[in-house]
This record gives sequence, C-alpha cells and structure tokens, in this order.
Amino acid sequence: MAPQTHFLEGKKIIVAGAGIAGSTFVAALYKLWGPTLSFPEIAVFDRGLREPKREGYSLSLNGENEHGGLIALQQLGVLDDILEHTVFPLNSGRFKMWDSKWNELISLQLKPFGTLPTGTMRIARKDLRRILTEKAEQAKATFHWGFACTAAERLENGRIKVTVASQTGDTSVHECDLLIAADGVHSKIRGSFRPDDKTKYAGAIQMGGQGSFPNGPPSPLEQNWGMMLSGQGVSCFFSAVDKENVVWGLSQREPERNDYYPRAGGLSADQLAALKKEALSLGHMFAEPFRTIVEATDAARAFMVPARDKEPIVHGASLAGLVFIGDANHAVSPFAGNGANLALKDGWDLAEALCQAASLNAAVAAYDKTSLPRAAETLKMSHDRISMVHLTGIKHKLFRAGLATGRLFLSSK
Ligand SMILES: Cc1cc2nc3c(=O)[nH]c(=O)nc-3n(C[C@H](O)[C@H](O)[C@H](O)COP(=O)(O)OP(=O)(O)OC[C@H]3O[C@@H](n4cnc5c(N)ncnc54)[C@H](O)[C@@H]3O)c2cc1C
Repeated sequence: MAPQTHFLEGKKIIVAGAGIAGSTFVAALYKLWGPTLSFPEIAVFDRGLREPKREGYSLSLNGENEHGGLIALQQLGVLDDILEHTVFPLNSGRFKMWDSKWNELISLQLKPFGTLPTGTMRIARKDLRRILTEKAEQAKATFHWGFACTAAERLENGRIKVTVASQTGDTSVHECDLLIAADGVHSKIRGSFRPDDKTKYAGAIQMGGQGSFPNGPPSPLEQNWGMMLSGQGVSCFFSAVDKENVVWGLSQREPERNDYYPRAGGLSADQLAALKKEALSLGHMFAEPFRTIVEATDAARAFMVPARDKEPIVHGASLAGLVFIGDANHAVSPFAGNGANLALKDGWDLAEALCQAASLNAAVAAYDKTSLPRAAETLKMSHDRISMVHLTGIKHKLFRAGLATGRLFLSSK
C-alpha cells in the first residue's frame, strides 16, 4: 500500500543549480512522487540563463551497466528524445584509440544493459541540457534562471538559509528544509559548508577547442570518436559535436600552470594564436587532419583547462538537510568521460531514495550507498586513464601489445 504521508510533505526544497544533476533530480522527484501525497515546494536557482551560451562540447552517455546515464534517462522517460539527438548513428559510431598515424589500436562498442538499445552514444551537451530542462520544467517547481546561490548556512532551528544573487547584483535570502547542492564543480554551497573540500590537480592539462567543417567532420571523425596516442607522452581526444563541428583536446602530464586561459568569454586573438602554436608543436607527431582541426579552432570555443577532481562526499550529521549531487559532490576531470553519467544517476537515485525512505537520514544513507562507490571508481579510473594515455617508451609499447592481443580490459570509453 502506498504511504499515506511523507516526511517531505509541506517542506521546502531549494535546488542550487539546474544543470544535468539538478534538472534530473527535480524531474525524477516529480515522476516518482506518490500521486496521493502533496508535492513539496521546490525552488530552483541557476546562475546561468535558461539557454546557456557555452555548452560547446559533446558527451559520452553510457549504458553498459545499471550506473550508466542512459539508464537514468530511460527511467526519466526521455530516452527516445535523447536517442534522436545522437551524434553518430546508434551502434555504428565507436570509441577508438589510434596511433599517431590514425592506425586503429582498439575499437570499442559497449554491450547495452537491460533493455537499452545501445551501450554508449555521444550527444551534444546543449541537446542533453535542453531535454533535461524541458522535462524538469514539467515538475511543480519554480525556476529562477540567472540567480546564483552565493552562500548557505544552517540556522538554529535546523533549516538552511541560502543567499541568492541576481545577475544585476541584488541579493535575497531564502530558507529551506532541504538543500540540494547541484551547482557544479566550483560549488558555492560546498564552499560554505566544506571550505577545505577543494578539487585537486590530477596531473595533466587539456588544451583544445572546436573547429567548424561545413562539409562534415574530416575522416575518420565523421563516424567515430576517440583518442590518439603518441607514445611520447602526448595524447589527443577528438569527437564530432554535430554534423559540422569537431571538438579536440590535446594533453600531456605536466606540473600545474598558473596561466590558464579564461573558460568564459573566449580567447583573445593572441591567446588563440599561442594556444594553436603550442598545440601544433606538442602534437607535431600527429598526422592530418590533426593540424587542420587545430587550425580551424575559433577563439570563442578554445580552452586550456587543468584536469582537476576530488573524492566523493560522505554525508554525515554535519551535513543534515543538505545533499550534494553531480560535480558538486565528486568532481571528475574530462579524462573520466563519466561525470555527466554520474550526475544523471545521482539525480535519479537521490529522488528515488527520498521517495522510498521513511526519513531524510535513511534516504541520504541509501543515496550514499549507491552513489559513493561508483564515484570513487570513476575517480580511480580517470587517474589510471591519465597515466595510460600519456605513456612513453617501453610502457607504451607494452600497453599497445596488450591492446593488440586483447588482453587489456577497458571497462568504458
Ligand atoms: C570537455 C569536457 C568533456 C566531458 N566529457 C564527458 C563525457 O564524455 N561524459 C560524461 O559523462 N561527462 C563528461 N564531462 C563531465 C560533465 O560535463 C560533468 O561532469 C557534468 O556536466 C556534471 O553535471 P552537474 O550537473 O553536476 O554540473 P553542471 O552540468 O556543471 O551543472 C551545474 C549547474 O549549476 C549552475 N551553477 C553553478 N554555480 C552556481 C551557483 N553558485 N548558483 C546556482 N547555480 C549555479 C550552472 O550554471 C549549471 O547549470 C566532460 C566535461 C568536460 C569539461
């Protein structure tokens, strides 16, 4: 028999961040909520606008096991819409590893879990965001776009006070019974409650960007995405974003720099020229179309970012009434290729735990039990991957031999 009451009835929830994790959470809670129960009041604040300006890359969504983002999208009921926006035809596009001359080292097609039609796919981030936003907006929740949560603190009565700033700088204060921190890697909520819990440099930087190809991505990137390995400590990721644009990211292991280009607002002409010069010099061993893609990169979509990540959060008593999901909880670098998948599953699993449990504490414990191990596994895998794609000398040769004989097991993209 469905429960007659629920501990969240009549309560107020604030969701900080309407990105992948936050939108999924709101949509999932609305979908799973008991029909006879009254839905809690939900206010969602996102510092960005509803149509973000910078959503310029594509993502791998995975579905090879129950922790894949495709499972969460299926549970939400938006999988068909997502599949319509696949960058590559389903089950024909593959993740590849190539040597510096584009010779194939490995080609992966993940086996789908359950009733999923594919084990992996690529989607433009903007398409994923739009589909999730539209789904979340169907929930009984109020969305405040262009409003940043700048700080939060617990009040003596146990409720949480959140300070919100508009884009014009006006501030307001809002109280809630439950705060969902989904405000991404640089979470202000995490900064308020866990100021020492910061991301750490993971040992590599990625420089890259996007180039436009009106006649379609150059071969072999019209059908596949993946990583080029040099064996000289440099690697480069490539993927089509849509039928015209290709994103690339060149990396090597190196000490952290302090001169990264700004992520927002694009690069100046001088910065773009310097980035291209450095990329072409570092990736001198990579055969065409590497040079063509680098040359085609435009200033608005170029980047140089350090790989940074952090351990997942264990929600103890000090965090009562507060739950971290997605990158706000367990930031992983792009080398993981799994942060969006984790964010999707976090959103769904937290909503499910809240609906099924008898108390908030029990729900958060159930969420941690599911979310923590997969985030820790992704973190470890991304560190292994950073080592692997930058191998040199004999270690690289052994790795290639392992690939060639199929002895090396690669669990995801
Ligand atoms: C180049 C690159 C490639 C990647 N490739 C993949 C991939 O192939 N597969 C994969 O699974 N993952 C990939 N990722 C990781 C993935 O994009 C992230 O892990 C994912 O976006 C995390 O989702 P999130 O909802 O936690 O955070 P976000 O998507 O960053 O959303 C956070 C939201 O919070 C809002 N916000 C921020 N601060 C505040 C504030 N103070 N107040 C209110 N709102 C705020 C933001 O506007 C945003 O809408 C990649 C990342 C990068 C950078």
